[in-house]
Amino acid sequence: MTVPQTHQRIQGTIAGPLDLNSAVAGAPVSATLRMNEAVAARRAARQRTIHLGFGEAPFPLPIPLREELARAATRTEYAPVLGLPGLRAAIAAYLARTHGLATSPATTIVGPGSKAVLYALMRALAGDVLLPTPSWVSYAPQARLAGKRVFPVDTDPADHHRMTRASLETAMQAAHETGGDPRLLVVNTPSNPTGGMFAADDAEEIAIWARGEGVTILSDEVYAELAHGWRAHVSPARFYSERTIVTGGMSKAFSAGGWRLGYAALPVTAAGEDLVAAVRSLAGEIWSSAATPIQQAAIVAFTFDDAMERFVRRSARIHAHAAARLRSALVAAGVRCPQPAGAFYLYPDFVPWRDQLAARGVTTSADLANHLLDEWDIATLPASDFGEAPDALRLRLATSMLYAPADAAPADQETILNRLLEQADDLPADGASGTTQLALPALDEAAAQLAAFVAAQGTSSSAT
Ligand code: PLP
Repeated sequence: MTVPQTHQRIQGTIAGPLDLNSAVAGAPVSATLRMNEAVAARRAARQRTIHLGFGEAPFPLPIPLREELARAATRTEYAPVLGLPGLRAAIAAYLARTHGLATSPATTIVGPGSKAVLYALMRALAGDVLLPTPSWVSYAPQARLAGKRVFPVDTDPADHHRMTRASLETAMQAAHETGGDPRLLVVNTPSNPTGGMFAADDAEEIAIWARGEGVTILSDEVYAELAHGWRAHVSPARFYSERTIVTGGMSKAFSAGGWRLGYAALPVTAAGEDLVAAVRSLAGEIWSSAATPIQQAAIVAFTFDDAMERFVRRSARIHAHAAARLRSALVAAGVRCPQPAGAFYLYPDFVPWRDQLAARGVTTSADLANHLLDEWDIATLPASDFGEAPDALRLRLATSMLYAPADAAPADQETILNRLLEQADDLPADGASGTTQLALPALDEAAAQLAAFVAAQGTSSSAT
């Protein structure tokens, strides 16, 4: 018998092609995870790599969380699908106290990471999705996997990628003209990739617009605790509590991405409770529950005593300091880069060097990211991964992997990061560059290498 080319013989049996669901066949791996793996491979091959490509909060886990996790190690039972009651209550109280949100334990739900919770919500809610451009890599793929059409809401790079009422109206009109039915607006404040954050007025205006249109807001606030201090974090839920869902988790504020613990605060209404029931049935068929020991330890995090508050505040100050420092270097090199208000990202614009870059065969942001990695050892993510047009020559830079030298042993990394946390109280509370300069050699190396790259392009044109 002839074995078809696509088939292989494995231990005497014939393995045919596995028929993939068309929703996932050929779908790429998440851009951020792909870049992190590429960097790991380069480093394993001892290739110098300046890692601005992956956003992970790196600080050593606070001791009370380690101790509680150790105590909870024997908790091998499944937790309730939507989370331990004590954790749901702790998160609801935490969000009410620190974010000023109207919450209740019954409408606060827990899952294995806010990414999974976001996907369950997209599956549970009807209608198409309005999504600002640029926005986090996973929203559009998640919406499409949930069978939704995605309609972009344009933002202006010269206006810090702010989302405006006019841009929302334009997007809504375009959706209706092509038969779309957007009933969900996904927002992210602070934003990955830009670090931008809603001003209170903007949050209110967007909320009022959404109420007028009957659109539900899915507000991803996983970076809320990492505001840099010069602008208060304001959720659209403050103005539109009846139809705004807020998501967050432990990954960014508590530097515990691998714990996979996320939550959503749903409206405290009968409709919110219906949505809780829908997510419960979805989650029960998919993940059953987040890991019980992790949930038990998370109660300590969200009880948010002085030690937790100090840890989060100090981490936020270091993220603010590092982002401001790299941005200053870029601006000094002549690069336009919006001032971030939160998280650990920068979103510089290399459009003014379009001609010079084109002469090197670089015409898209993906080309630019490849060029920087191949020729300058700098890992970044291209704007196209965040939904921008291919020729938008912008990059997302993540600063959080550059706080300790990559070649330091894990124990040394921990010592270095703990020392930074101890020094963080000396940093200005508003994220401004003060007299305190932390020792961040890897960040300084990144700044110097980016400045060298910019200098090598020659004079920019002012055209955008
Ligand atoms: N939302 C945004 C904007 C993110 O950047 C990330 C992680 O990078 C997530 C959600 C996912 O977070 P979690 O670890 O809670 O799944």
